[in-house]
Amino acid sequence: MAIERTFSIIKPDATARNLTGAVNAMIERAGLRIVAQKRVLISRDQAETFYAVHRQRPFFRELVEFMISGPVVVQVLEGENAIAAYRDLMGATDPAQAAPGTIRKVFAKSIGENSVHGSDAADTAGREIAQFFAGNDIVG
Ligand code: ATP
Ligand code: MG
Repeated sequence: MAIERTFSIIKPDATARNLTGAVNAMIERAGLRIVAQKRVLISRDQAETFYAVHRQRPFFRELVEFMISGPVVVQVLEGENAIAAYRDLMGATDPAQAAPGTIRKVFAKSIGENSVHGSDAADTAGREIAQFFAGNDIVG
């Protein structure tokens, strides 16, 4: 297995409930290393670019409004097989379907307000990291 990097967002529903540290503790307990992190308000343009793949979906407007509704914590996570490992740790998109012990099972409020994002493949991880971090912002 290779050491990979993936992109994570702690979403506004989680920052609003002061859960950044609790989510980070689960990330670290799972063996992933937080190698870059910042708390930001993202613009509408940034949110629309980030979720452009979902532009035609019925929930797109709601998703963008949610992602700009409060601060988020954007992160780069590093570890063995990090992309799949973090998807496993996050759990299913809908918290009702998420496995016990996953971040979404423990913290998510709904399929929309589901606490975390994680990249779904190596190409998206690279693109998403580059949208928010310069190379020298990431210290592994
Ligand atoms: P993410 O991309 O945020 O990591 P995901 O890969 O599990 O989540 P996607 O299918 O990529 O799920 O959906 C992106 C995001 O859009 C979801 O995380 C959720 O916030 C929102 N979303 C997805 N489906 C719905 C829905 N049916 N209703 C409302 N919001 C939704
Ligand atoms: Mg996705």
